[in-house]
Amino acid sequence: MFHISDLKKYNRCRRMYCLDQFTPRPEFRPFVRLDQQVSDLVSRKLGITDPFVGQRGDDASLALQAMADHDWLIKARFEYGQLRIKVPFLHRNEDGWDLYFMFIGLYPHSNDMQFYCDTVWVLENLNIPLKNMYVVHLNADYVRGEELDENELFVVSSSFYNGKNHPTLPVEKAVRDHMKDISELLDGMQQGFADIPEPERSHQCSSRQKCRYYDSCFPEEKEQEDNSILTLIGAQYRYDMKKEGRLYLRDADERRIEGSRMQYAQIMADRQGGLYTDKMALRNWLGRLKYPIACIDFEWERYAIPPYAGMRPYDVLLFEYSIHTIQEDGTINHKVYLSIHDKREDFARGLIRDIPKEGTVLAYNAEGAEKIRIQELAEVFPQYRDELLAINDRMEDLQLPFESGMVYDTRMRGQWSLKKIMAMMDDPGYRDLDIQQGMDAVYEWRFLDEEEKLDENDPRVRELKEYCGMDSYAMTVVLDWLKQISS
Ligand code: SF4
Repeated sequence: MFHISDLKKYNRCRRMYCLDQFTPRPEFRPFVRLDQQVSDLVSRKLGITDPFVGQRGDDASLALQAMADHDWLIKARFEYGQLRIKVPFLHRNEDGWDLYFMFIGLYPHSNDMQFYCDTVWVLENLNIPLKNMYVVHLNADYVRGEELDENELFVVSSSFYNGKNHPTLPVEKAVRDHMKDISELLDGMQQGFADIPEPERSHQCSSRQKCRYYDSCFPEEKEQEDNSILTLIGAQYRYDMKKEGRLYLRDADERRIEGSRMQYAQIMADRQGGLYTDKMALRNWLGRLKYPIACIDFEWERYAIPPYAGMRPYDVLLFEYSIHTIQEDGTINHKVYLSIHDKREDFARGLIRDIPKEGTVLAYNAEGAEKIRIQELAEVFPQYRDELLAINDRMEDLQLPFESGMVYDTRMRGQWSLKKIMAMMDDPGYRDLDIQQGMDAVYEWRFLDEEEKLDENDPRVRELKEYCGMDSYAMTVVLDWLKQISS
């Protein structure tokens, strides 16, 4: 018996599909928090009464029997040709059935059609006549009041959305256009494999998310030298160049690189012994910074369904900040704030209090994170708007010298996260922490958030403060290094 997720893996890479049979699954830790039972909320939106509700492990004949005396089926399990599916919602419509898919996101696009097509393939092979097809998704414009309003929270769309997020492509047409007979595929899966297929590099290995077997499929990549041609960022032909014996950055074929500033910095770094610095540009950038310099870092949780008033679907809830402030004489002080539940206003007031009223505010990836978060706070709390936006006006992005190719050290190995740069400088900071990644911090916080009050003696509080504190501390170290190499 297979599920659509098995089919997806089999289609993506036969080797991955095989390895998955023998490898224990890592614990599922969602990036986005989803506390509510979505099917209950959608049931209320659709006005469903007296439904048949399928359960995990149901015999597939149950749902077929239920179609005789229920007008609505929720999460019903069906099987055909070894493929088992779970159908979000089915509704009787005279002599046929309307099919409702669920998309727990803002804009369902037609680029991931397998789930939709395979679901219809099973139902139609079971001779279930389908009439209309819809996708139920979250409403990007919904702003929660004190109570959650499921009528406003969800949209029932008969179309998929285009690249500009306009509903343009009818669901049924898209499904019909992409439908294929999958019997052969299922037969192939049924036969299994005599041996695990050899790894074959393709865009599937690292597109969207890096495959979890990548390091075991291509162990030599971990062993590559710091200045390997494979570290050349965004270079489409790097594997071809390596095959031809162009092993290092300095050997890159200039006719086959994209010519970005970063690639130039990487090649020059290798030609100059490991470090490239555009000193003029770096000095200009450093010259923009004014003391006191406040290095800030935030942590937050993201919710699919807004849990508090004023939030939209997929909004974030800020719960922690760390600020290392560097004075002109080199002294540094540190402030850290941590809360649970909804303390957004307290958070906003804390920022206004703890960030100096003058000087530069520095964040790493400021444009993609801290600046946006402050802008969001300013929208929710107009009473603090001016003071919050004044912080943004003084904000600079410490990532800029790296991402713009002002600086490259071959020890960065094609990456420029704060952790990577700290590791390159042999700083033990992150190595010694209990929490190692931003998402680990969020998972730890989820446990704290279940408590009624924040217990300062809880070891998780210390771990979270150390982790966020390390990010803003790391910025002071990186800034120091940039100053040294600019002279
Ligand atoms: S890394 Fe590539 S070849 Fe290896 S299992 Fe993943 S997708 Fe398949």
